[in-house]
Amino acid sequence: MTKGIIFKGIGGFYYVKANGVLFECKARGKFKNQNITPLVGDYVLIDVYDSQANLATIEEVCERKNELLRPNVANVEQAIIVFAIKDPMPNLTLLDKMIVLAEHAGLEIIICFNKGDLDETFDFELYQKRFERTGYHLIKTCAHTGEGIDALKGLLKNKISVFSGPSGVGKSSLLNAIENGLSLTVGELSQKIKRGKHTTRHSELLQLSNGGIVVDTPGFTSLSMHEVEPEALSQFFPDFSSFKSNCRFDNCLHLNEPNCGVKEALVSGMLSKERYDVYVYLYKEMTENERKNKKW
Ligand code: GDP
Ligand code: ZN
Repeated sequence: MTKGIIFKGIGGFYYVKANGVLFECKARGKFKNQNITPLVGDYVLIDVYDSQANLATIEEVCERKNELLRPNVANVEQAIIVFAIKDPMPNLTLLDKMIVLAEHAGLEIIICFNKGDLDETFDFELYQKRFERTGYHLIKTCAHTGEGIDALKGLLKNKISVFSGPSGVGKSSLLNAIENGLSLTVGELSQKIKRGKHTTRHSELLQLSNGGIVVDTPGFTSLSMHEVEPEALSQFFPDFSSFKSNCRFDNCLHLNEPNCGVKEALVSGMLSKERYDVYVYLYKEMTENERKNKKW
């Protein structure tokens, strides 16, 4: 048996990439009885019964590390959150919300500021400082001049990644810039991205030359986002974590409690004020929505 990844599913067929070859597969009937629906991104074991025509059968679906709801893809490891430095101006509240959603989905996070050519005065260091203790990669790119494209491609290496961010920030352009060196799939890629804009369709995986894999549709809503409780919000702020052990109360919300390690870190300048303010803002918004029974 051969191990591979489901790259796409169409009309009852699964296309599984294994050892660099795409196999057309049917899934074993037993999965239906077991209530398993193979998903794009699933690692599977296939039995190749026609190596000339690349036909195989999916025999096993390996355990999923995670599952995104939109796009409905399994085993995504990292999110590239793209914003433009200008046109459109970055909406920082939206950026922070997206970060929390990606954290909640259990994804590694890369924050990408694109359109680096549009504003020479853009203060990238300010953002680096803001996210200093989060462990997130920050990167400045320009899909037109090629700035940061190699670095971004390097970050995609050997991982399954999903791009996200508002429309018009340059996600498709970045993918095209990354794929330019890949004469084999560049046409395929741009075609797929165009189609993706106009129709709702199943997501597919795109293979990069360096072993990276990218989901062809943006987004990362995880299955249980609506279950996030405001009390759990600080879990999704990794920069708070090392200070929490200094909180007097285990269930400290880092708001008005005495002897709060997070607030002490804020006062001593160890923690970014912007990040703390975002936490308070989102906490309030979530509790408001909870009262109104609305989720975000
Ligand atoms: P998407 O909606 O996020 O996929 O954004 P697109 O890739 O479709 O890009 C939206 C617009 O921004 C297009 O007109 C692109 O040519 C432009 N664009 C993308 N990247 C850059 C960049 O780095 N610099 C500039 N100046 N424009 C860019
Ligand atoms: Zn606290």
